Formats: sequence, structure tokens, C-alpha cells
Amino acid sequence: MKRVLITGAAGFIGSHLSDKFIKEGYHVIGMDNLITGNLANIEHLFKLKEFEFYHHDVSKFVHVPGDLDYILHFASPASPIDYLKMPIQTLKVGSLGTHNLLGLAKSKNARILIASTSEVYGDPLVHPQNEEYWGNVNPIGPRGVYDEAKRFQEAITMAYHNFHGLETRIVRIFNTYGPRMRVEDGRVLPAFFSQALRGEGLTVFGDGSQTRSFCYVDDLVEGIYKLLLSDYHMPVNIGNPVEITIRMFADEILELVDNPKAHIVFKDLPVDDPKQRQPDITKAKQILDWTPKFDRAEGLRLTYEYFKTVVERR
Ligand code: UDP
Repeated sequence: MKRVLITGAAGFIGSHLSDKFIKEGYHVIGMDNLITGNLANIEHLFKLKEFEFYHHDVSKFVHVPGDLDYILHFASPASPIDYLKMPIQTLKVGSLGTHNLLGLAKSKNARILIASTSEVYGDPLVHPQNEEYWGNVNPIGPRGVYDEAKRFQEAITMAYHNFHGLETRIVRIFNTYGPRMRVEDGRVLPAFFSQALRGEGLTVFGDGSQTRSFCYVDDLVEGIYKLLLSDYHMPVNIGNPVEITIRMFADEILELVDNPKAHIVFKDLPVDDPKQRQPDITKAKQILDWTPKFDRAEGLRLTYEYFKTVVERR
């Protein structure tokens, strides 16, 4: 049985990855310090002998007994309000945490995949964003702690690949959604679903003309799985290229939830909020034979089922 360490295992994406690797017949070692993760996301795995969990902060030295075949580094605060609240932890987990895990991968002779992000492109001047674009990032803006930690993460991962010959993989994740997103994490989809369910104003930032491209989590997980098992070590974008303005996205949620009290309110646009974002997924198609399968209507329906069960109505 192959053994995989997943950091951030109690988080949104980490918990879905844990499910996937269990389903594919791996022994999964989950690790999380639970500052943004939630054990409820992986509660169902605790009864399995193929699953172990360590409550640990990967910014500190990481020890895992026994062999490891793969490491997936998904620990990090990942929503803009989280990294505003936890700027130092965000910087540390992307830098020190990644260094620790690269060292662990080297000592175990394991292949490591690190979770990078479309944020490495910043507020992009190239559209759609392909992997060759270097980005337009403000290092000292509010998002800098996340963006630069992830850019450093890519740099140190490539250095371990080039200098030590380590087997490395880098996925650049674009906006992803699905069940187990935190209701209060401040990102647009949990915000809109909870506001619509409670009959409140959906807080559209700015005039809502900024765009995002939303990928359903099962598609993302499939892409990550394929990338890990591929022989490609350069960064690969994984996301759904279908782009929508945030204003139109709010309308879609209003229509789906169909709560007569819900409406739209406009709030200030956060500093350095990227104006547009759409992944160029040519590489993922060619190298991994991957394309997203869930369209937004289906993904939103599945996600709505989850939010109905977790949003407390007032
Ligand atoms: N957004 C919004 N209302 C909210 C939360 C977010 O209009 O309550 C906007 C935000 O300004 C951004 C987009 O939705 O343009 C996506 O924001 P999110 O925080 O989900 O992720 P980002 O892609 O910015 O990291």
C-alpha cells in the first residue's frame, strides 16, 4: 500500500484529496494545525485503518514515522480575510512549511506536489493566464503575504528539483468551490450562499465587473491526482476556464436559492483585488489529458445542498 502525507488535510481541498487517495487505495497520513481546517471535514475517515491524523503545524519541524511515497502540501490559510488575519502564519507555512516538507521528501525519497495558486499571477496583465506569464504582484499589499509565500514556495520547490534532483510537482489552483468550504471564510461563494439563505444582502464588492472562473472541487482533485502521477515537473494551471463577472455570479446564486428577502448590496472593492482571472488550461489538457467535467449549474446545485445543511438561519 502506497503511503501519502497530505498537509492541510482538514481543510476544504485537503479533505477532498484525502477522500480521493483513500478511494484509490492509499494509506493517507493527514496533517493539520486546524487554524482554518475543521475536523468535521475528515471525521468520516477516522474509523479507517488506512487513515492517520497528526495535529501539527508544518512550519515547525515535521516528523512522520515510516516510509512515504508522496507528499501533498496543501496547508495554508487560503482566503483573503484569513491571510489578512494571519499574515505571519501565511508567510511561514508557504516558506518554512514548504522547506520542511521538501526536506522530508528528500529524506524519504518521496515525490512532493505543492499547492500553488493563480495568485502568483497577481492582478494579471495577460488574459487568460498561461504558465509562462510571470505575474503582476504587489509584494507589500494585503495579498502580498499569500502571493509572495506561494511564489517563494515555487522557487524553493524548483531549487530542490534542480539542485537535489527531487521529484516535484507544482499545481497552480484557480478559484475552486464545493462542499466543505467554510461558511464564514469570506470568499465569494460561501458569502453569497449564506447571505442568500439568510435573506440578507449579497455583498458584491466594487461594481461586480471583476471576473473569476470557478472550478468544482471534484474536477480539481482529479487534475491534481493526474499531475502527481505524471512525469511533468513544471507548474500546471488547474481550473475551469468558464469566466463570469461577480455581479452575474450573484444573480445565479439569487436564482438558485430563490429567497425573496435576499438582494444585492454593493461594498468597497478590497485593495489589489484582481480585475480578471481565467486559467489557460492548454497544458493540463495536453500533458494530463484533463478537462473539467462539471459545469457551474451542476457544481452550484451540489454545493447548495451542502450549504443548506450548514448555514444557520437567523
Ligand atoms: N467578492 C464579493 N463579495 C464577497 C466576497 C468576495 O464581491 O462577499 C469578490 C471579490 O472582491 C473578488 C471575487 O469576489 O473579486 C472573488 O473573491 P474571493 O475572496 O472568493 O477570492 P479571490 O479570487 O479574490 O481570491
